[in-house]
Amino acid sequence: MQGTPFDFFVQFHLTEECNLSCRHCYQSAAVSEMTYEEICGAISEVKRTVQGWAVDHDIDVSPSLHFTGGEPLVRQDLFDVLGYASGCGFSTSLMTNGTLIDEAAARRIGDAKVTDVQISLDGTEAAHDSLRGRGAHRRALDGVRNLVAAGVETNLNVTVTRRNMSQTGELVRAAEELGASGIAFSRLVPSGRGKGLMAEALTGDEVACFYDDLRRHRANSRIAVGSRDPLATIADIDVDVPQTELPVGGCAAGVFGVTITADGTIMPCRRMDLPIGNVKNDSLRELWVESPVLVALRTRERYHDTCQSCSYWPVCRGCRAIALAYSRAEGKNDYLGPDPQCPYHSAPGFS
Ligand code: SF4
Ligand code: SF4
Repeated sequence: MQGTPFDFFVQFHLTEECNLSCRHCYQSAAVSEMTYEEICGAISEVKRTVQGWAVDHDIDVSPSLHFTGGEPLVRQDLFDVLGYASGCGFSTSLMTNGTLIDEAAARRIGDAKVTDVQISLDGTEAAHDSLRGRGAHRRALDGVRNLVAAGVETNLNVTVTRRNMSQTGELVRAAEELGASGIAFSRLVPSGRGKGLMAEALTGDEVACFYDDLRRHRANSRIAVGSRDPLATIADIDVDVPQTELPVGGCAAGVFGVTITADGTIMPCRRMDLPIGNVKNDSLRELWVESPVLVALRTRERYHDTCQSCSYWPVCRGCRAIALAYSRAEGKNDYLGPDPQCPYHSAPGFS
């Protein structure tokens, strides 16, 4: 269908290596990384997939590749990869801890024409360094300043925990003063090394308070203050949601994009450790249609309990990674159950 572009993205992990070892990181094990040639092959596979959709289904696809790690700047061929991806017609972005972005790296990133750089920030200096190591906060902020000076659109990304949930105002002000274009907040997913931080994850009541607070900061800030968390969208909804059997918004996992990890494994989302194939051997286009996991993520009847019965299902479905992480903590492997931090369930007809 022409007219409404399908914003398809791949979160592409170029390496598992990192110069930090953050306590809440969702990476947990070393893997055999793809070579530069294999990465180019994977990018070409994504290109073939979106071109196939465009030709066969007359779909206008707006594809993007979000490169991350580990820490993507530890890969020596990062700028070659960015050049190859741009040459294939993708818009590109970088997700980084920012600590390796000196003035020269910032200029190279600007020259590589990435659409934006997201830098992780986990609170004020004490909160950030307690998770990421001493000095990480100062170096991340230097990275932001260098990018802004180089004219690169730069956004901050905060993982929200009980440790930093009351620091929103300070963080928004810091983002404004640094010249960032925006600041976004995501909930902690207690998986990978982050498993040990389960006690720092927000409860449903805390999620509701946090997003109420975020709305006030958004109204008062000159920069973009937001969240890609489906629950943040629900917190702002004040109209009935048309009931559809297919998702039209919300959790992107397997609906608007997938993740490719450093060894080529394809997953619905990096925070959901559910491999569905490998880009080195499998057709992404076939997996997109045939993967039982991806099909289940798009099928309302496959969900159960609160999310299945909720009027917000078409635009929400919660965070499937958080649902899976809590289920695994109970010895199960259920990615279609309730989002345990959701305070917004609404039966159809009562939204
Ligand atoms: S019950 Fe599920 S679909 Fe409904 S608002 Fe909560 S997380 Fe979203
Ligand atoms: S599973 Fe969670 S982190 Fe992944 S796309 Fe969905 S909402 Fe985002």
